[in-house]
Amino acid sequence: MTENIYVVGHKSPDTDSVTSAIAYANLKAQLGVKEAVAAAAGNVNNETKFILDHFGLAAPMVLTDAAGKKVILVDHNEVGQAVDNVMQGDIVEVVDHHKIGDIQTGKPIFFHNEPVGATGTIIASLYEQNGVAIPKAMAGIMMSAILSDTVLFKSPTCTEKDKAAVSKLSQICGEDPMKFGMEMLKAKSDIKSKSALDILMGDFKKFDFSGTKAGVGQIEVMDLADLTPKRAAILDEMKKKADAEKLDMIVLMLTDVMKEASDLLFVGNAASAAGFEKAFGGKLANNSIYKEKCLSRKKQVIPPLESAFKK
Ligand code: MG
Ligand code: MG
Ligand code: MG
Repeated sequence: MTENIYVVGHKSPDTDSVTSAIAYANLKAQLGVKEAVAAAAGNVNNETKFILDHFGLAAPMVLTDAAGKKVILVDHNEVGQAVDNVMQGDIVEVVDHHKIGDIQTGKPIFFHNEPVGATGTIIASLYEQNGVAIPKAMAGIMMSAILSDTVLFKSPTCTEKDKAAVSKLSQICGEDPMKFGMEMLKAKSDIKSKSALDILMGDFKKFDFSGTKAGVGQIEVMDLADLTPKRAAILDEMKKKADAEKLDMIVLMLTDVMKEASDLLFVGNAASAAGFEKAFGGKLANNSIYKEKCLSRKKQVIPPLESAFKK
């Protein structure tokens, strides 16, 4: 029996982490690596479900523990964001578009990291580099991932390479990117059925800022007013989560994709509050700082926090 190689994205899986696992496992299979299996580090969110349904694909199997398993990490390269016991597994490849984290290996591996808007962009280019035709459904989900991660090209993380990839992929899958992107955003913004905890944990990542343990989440909606009735309950869940996981602070970006702004909710100890205010050049009022032109956790929230806490 050949040993499976699980292609898996980060915890609190977003569209890019799930679709990148599916598309990369497909590419591997087409290249003869039949033991590549797509996995997700949790259940898929509403937006991802909408996309997979649309392109006729099933959600991948859920993998929560990598101990003793061969894994290819996509869309992340930090232990804190990976499936449990990733360092007790065998990491055979990494394909990502984030800052280099703390993943370590005992031998050289294929490690492809590129500062583009989505892992989907990199995987689309890997199909090309390998001379493999992109199947229609794979084109559809990679296009969706790029649109999702770049918030329809509005995020400062978006590059020309992402736009070119979407243009190519849209021709293969036959969907108008902007029209389809708006439908995706609607599926993502549908928070009526979501609890405050779902909203906090839907896209939640852990970071270590020079010893300050932090969780930074994001929820994207088409109108921030939709979140107002749940604000108090969300703050409550943030406090509970910080206590339970012994985090010094939790930040939740409430992102208005139409206004291209984020209300940055904060809970944490006094030292973290000072660092948070320093990072965003404002004073906390009613547990938040509102930032215009702020869409990207990776480019606009993590770097200022890292420098504010740097010792
Ligand atoms: Mg991601
Ligand atoms: Mg991504
Ligand atoms: Mg995102």
